[in-house]
Amino acid sequence: MQLKQCLLVCGLTTLLMTEFSGAQMPHAAPPSHNTRAKPKASLPPSARPKLVVLLVVDQMRGDYVDKFKGQWTGGLKRLVQEGAWFREAAYPYAATETCVGHATISTGAFPATHGMIANAWWDRDSQKMVTCTFDPNVKNSAYAGGSTTGGDSAWRMRLPAFSDELRFQSGGATRVVTFSLKARAAVTMGGHKADAVTWFENGSWITSSAYGSMPFVEDFVKAHAMKADYGKAWELSLPKSEYWYDEKATGAEAAEGWDLTFPHVLRGKAGSSEPDPAFYNQWEMSPFADTYLTNLAERAVDQLGLGKGGGTDFLAVSYSSPDHVGHAFGPRSWEIQDILVRLDKDLAELFEHLDTKVGRGNYVVALSADHGVVPVPEDMQKTGSDAGRLRVPEVQEKIEKALEPFGYTKPAVARIASADIFFSTGTYEKLKTDPAALRAVLDAVRSVPGVAEVYRAEELRDRPATQSPIRMAEANSYFEGRSGDLVIVPKPYWLMSNRADKARDYGTGHGTPYNYDQHVPVLLMGWGIEHGEYFGAITPADIAPTLASLCGISLASRDGRVLAEALKTPGTPKASAPAR
Ligand SMILES: [Zn+2]
Repeated sequence: MQLKQCLLVCGLTTLLMTEFSGAQMPHAAPPSHNTRAKPKASLPPSARPKLVVLLVVDQMRGDYVDKFKGQWTGGLKRLVQEGAWFREAAYPYAATETCVGHATISTGAFPATHGMIANAWWDRDSQKMVTCTFDPNVKNSAYAGGSTTGGDSAWRMRLPAFSDELRFQSGGATRVVTFSLKARAAVTMGGHKADAVTWFENGSWITSSAYGSMPFVEDFVKAHAMKADYGKAWELSLPKSEYWYDEKATGAEAAEGWDLTFPHVLRGKAGSSEPDPAFYNQWEMSPFADTYLTNLAERAVDQLGLGKGGGTDFLAVSYSSPDHVGHAFGPRSWEIQDILVRLDKDLAELFEHLDTKVGRGNYVVALSADHGVVPVPEDMQKTGSDAGRLRVPEVQEKIEKALEPFGYTKPAVARIASADIFFSTGTYEKLKTDPAALRAVLDAVRSVPGVAEVYRAEELRDRPATQSPIRMAEANSYFEGRSGDLVIVPKPYWLMSNRADKARDYGTGHGTPYNYDQHVPVLLMGWGIEHGEYFGAITPADIAPTLASLCGISLASRDGRVLAEALKTPGTPKASAPAR
């Protein structure tokens, strides 16, 4: 939304947030990275953690911890054994997508507040699709001679990130560093003014002018070319008997150049003898990418002296490969099981590195996921359940057809993005005064196989009081001006598919208001955290307020709460622990 229109529509709240949105304003020059700003006054060293480490696993369902923890020996195991494990954490909203989940963890608010409603949406002003981090006022640059286009920043996120607040409230001594394969993860975690925000695109490591580049990343990427992984094989880490389900996962779709059995060799497409686009896809879908991100994070700790400054530093890594693997092979696959075993080893190494460089007990870790995943529909059908693929193009066709008798200009639908239906300019306003035509549209949407319900924007705005958990979840996702005119709710175990033909497609996804997409792990460990298993219902929006409490700062608007049950006063054992 452009600032001018926003002032009319969004009122005072937006005015207050404009400072953070950066709308229509040139970005300030990135801060100098060579010197660390001196805090005005240092707090006692024991009063706060030296480093906050945020780890997000892209696509990790809450039940994976219970299911697979017996196979872990490293960092994931340590989080369960030493940390606070919240078993019933779930996003209470419908748009369970990557950008939305990361923005929620980062800000401690739901999409109805932070405004990141999807990975991408139809922008009514420019009449085109925009990604959640696309910013026309900044320019991306690639490290080590790579190539890139476009610009990304957090300007569309209508709240400061936890890391923005941490830096702002601790006198400028805080360093903020984030890594991911995805811009929408690295940017939302880093916030508006981070020191280093780094992601991966088509074989290159990228940052943007919103943040500036870092010499240590340049040096690392130059010294560790990804093509060194060319020809490596992703082998099983455990004996074959340790794996559940079938090796060839039902409904799975292997990356180009791979089949459905191990080992998966990173050699690009068949017949290729050097790194090609298929190789980089395989690399992103392999544990080698997780290891690379971990090594980058360790280098950041060493080169920037994270955890050694006057304030509390912030390091975040979002591990994207599990999402690529989960989409292709599904949750009931050897690949998902194995990539978590590998991540467990990477995190063991990361924590050992932090123990050495920052000191065990001096840092606090929060691990969560941006969303879960639904089983591959064809796999779910084996249970006899109603499952399938909801054809999005069919929704559009049926709406256009339903409006034919009413004389509406075609196309009436500008775009269906995620579950949001956006009408062409003026069409929805007209429909609202044309009950028969509107009823025909709603009936048409409901007639598509896999559709459970369709909501009108008026039913979702301002978070209405409701007994319906689905409507509440949709309302928590609704952001005026960005969300669709209508919102589709698929049936449970039905996956929304953009494929127009009826041919079978493969793999699976997420993005619905059902528990398999909403339920994620939340694990806290280290400075100020009371070990235990916690069974109370919480949300990942509780992470930022909890970290804020540990760091002695306050957040602005938030939907989360402080997870006080898992906090302890350093040196003072709890009289009665609420944990089981
Ligand atoms: Zn995904």
